[in-house]
Amino acid sequence: MKAWEVIGYAADADIWCPACAREAYGPLTDQSEDHEGNLIHPIFACDEWDYPLVCHCCHEALTE
Ligand SMILES: [Zn+2]
Repeated sequence: MKAWEVIGYAADADIWCPACAREAYGPLTDQSEDHEGNLIHPIFACDEWDYPLVCHCCHEALTE
């Protein structure tokens, strides 16, 4: 897995895998906004999180 690979998105205070994010928000660009009007943040493979990232929609783990 490449460090700069986008493994998911943070939007509406939830974590989304790429497939669910596209389904919920449509085609994603760096200007895409969530339902609260905030920018949707891509999550990169190199980002460090204190807890395992799981898509809140399909419950798939984003990391291994
Ligand atoms: Zn998902």
